[in-house]
Amino acid sequence: MRKKITVESDMALLYERMQREGLKFTAPRERIARWIFSNHGHFTVDDIIEDFRKNGEKISPATTYRVVQMLLELSLLIEHNFGKETKYYEHTPGHPVHDHMICTECGTIEEFSDAGLMEELNRVAEEKKFTMVKHSLSVYGLCKNCRNKKKPV
Ligand SMILES: [Zn+2]
Ligand SMILES: [Zn+2]
Ligand SMILES: [Zn+2]
Repeated sequence: MRKKITVESDMALLYERMQREGLKFTAPRERIARWIFSNHGHFTVDDIIEDFRKNGEKISPATTYRVVQMLLELSLLIEHNFGKETKYYEHTPGHPVHDHMICTECGTIEEFSDAGLMEELNRVAEEKKFTMVKHSLSVYGLCKNCRNKKKPV
């Protein structure tokens, strides 16, 4: 049976990986990591800082960046460039590998996963004698809503 993914199980995974790397857990690091594992969508570093501020909690932007960087290195977070200057992140535990379709009109981000596409990527990597660790694919265009709006009446 698959283990249930909770913020606690994500934190346990983080403890384990930090310990392996000899990294120290501090209270601010823990608070930021908890925020990240509690938010299941796509977010920016500013979103984290802003959210803490809204709750009247002070958080250092430098620490926030460092935690994000650490989680990236520990493969618990994935970075996306959704065609904007800001980088977007999402945690990986509990979320199957997926790609994104981004609407250039309204900014909606839709997730999709396609087994055939993954097979193709694996095949290409194999052909190039390349070991794929992760991938990030963003498809840009018009979402269903925006496409309908653009149709002449
Ligand atoms: Zn999640
Ligand atoms: Zn749209
Ligand atoms: Zn996503």
